[in-house]
Amino acid sequence: MPLQSINPATDTILSTYQEMSSSEVADIVRVTHAAHLQWRGTSMDQRAGILRGAAHLLRSRSDEWAQLMAAEMGKPVRDGVAEARKCADCCDYFAEQGAAMLARESVPTDDQHDSFVVYEPLGVVLAVMPWNFPFWQAFRALAPAIMAGNAIVLKHASNVCGCAIALERILRDAGAPEHLFRTLLIGSSRVDAVIEHPLVRGVTLTGSSDAGRAVASKAGQVLKKCVLELGGSDAYLVLEDADLDMAATICAKARLVNGGQSCIAGKRFLVVDPVREEFEKRFVAKMAAVRQGDPLDQATEIGPMARRDLRDQLQRQVTASVDRGARCLLGGSIPAGPGAFYPPTVLTDVRPGMPAYDEEVFGPVAAIIPVRDEAAAIEVANDSMFGLGGGVVTRDLARGQRVAAALECGCMFVNEPVRSDPRLPFGGVKQSGYGRELSAFGIKEFVNVKSVVVN
Ligand code: NAP
Repeated sequence: MPLQSINPATDTILSTYQEMSSSEVADIVRVTHAAHLQWRGTSMDQRAGILRGAAHLLRSRSDEWAQLMAAEMGKPVRDGVAEARKCADCCDYFAEQGAAMLARESVPTDDQHDSFVVYEPLGVVLAVMPWNFPFWQAFRALAPAIMAGNAIVLKHASNVCGCAIALERILRDAGAPEHLFRTLLIGSSRVDAVIEHPLVRGVTLTGSSDAGRAVASKAGQVLKKCVLELGGSDAYLVLEDADLDMAATICAKARLVNGGQSCIAGKRFLVVDPVREEFEKRFVAKMAAVRQGDPLDQATEIGPMARRDLRDQLQRQVTASVDRGARCLLGGSIPAGPGAFYPPTVLTDVRPGMPAYDEEVFGPVAAIIPVRDEAAAIEVANDSMFGLGGGVVTRDLARGQRVAAALECGCMFVNEPVRSDPRLPFGGVKQSGYGRELSAFGIKEFVNVKSVVVN
């Protein structure tokens, strides 16, 4: 089956890619392994030099990368430029900090012995990545892995093959050995065979929980290390002492990040009864004010969704929630015209049994869930199969920290929207996955933590 890039703003087919054959894939894994054997002998300075080179290319050509993302998955160009720059920052961060993170650690065990821990690379790591941040998700995985001495084969989402090819070129133009980072043009049904390949030593997947289950099962069968960054349904708690204007701004920003197509977008807004009506008014105004349109226009804040099928699935979730009693305060229907556009939408009175409560809603649709008080808000926040991120808006910072401690998730932000940062570990609990990316925790996911004792 050929893979296709379709411009979601216009429905135009941009490119068609033939899938690689099984023998082509096996050859790529072999040459990538050979590149790894050479790469593992390089110094940390050499590795840092390649990452700095990639950072330079990401920054100096950020407009070009932004156009590519806009064309393939509808990201507004100004967000694409920011994404390319964030990738550059991530490369620079691991170039600067990687050596210290992976330095040999002395662990005294006995007077006569020298004993220490070293962090050695594992080999070829398979990265299975989603389309929503087509550069960032890949760089978040590859920068630390390469700094640690690993090599990467990337299976990117089928709708962003152009981005996948560009990523391979960036690494090569930055001076990386030719096969250190290779892109596999294959569909998801071919991932199992790559995991099974004896020279593939680990797999990192960012994607839906269904994809996570499939990849984890295969990795388990062949006993390979696996990191899973999966879906989320982040709850934002708006407490009665919140600055409501600030709360509305934070929640709208959190919901509409990347047009609502982010694992760490705010999806459920748990607003305590005394301030709910006033919050709803301000939140709807903020959501309605966002400029939606052509992703190539510098003024556009949200573009179309990445694919029509995803937009149609979102509409089904909205319709089913309204059928079961949710009230639609804004948006809620597919506009006429070409493209996979869906308007910013606000549902309120959302309750258990509705898709907007129970499922991940991956688009610009906010679910307001009424709660009595802080205790009820915490209970509802944790009443989710997901546990990725969360937020709380309150004027009382000590209270914010108490709430942060009570939520079952991988990160909590008090009075600001959740975001990833190379300096902080990123990942989730429950069905949001396991393992961590970024920071010293992330770089150590794909290393052999080796103890050495010398007598
Ligand atoms: P997806 O459909 O799961 O696809 C993600 C990647 O996995 C794609 O490369 C896809 O390939 C592949 N894939 C899908 N099914 C697979 C299977 N059964 N076996 C092996 N590989 C498989 O997810 P998406 O729609 O691209 O992205 C949205 C999801 O990703 C959301 O749930 C979002 O929350 C999650 N996400 C999580 C994070 C995080 O850090 N936790 C970050 C971003 C996104 P094809 O494209 O060929 O199907």
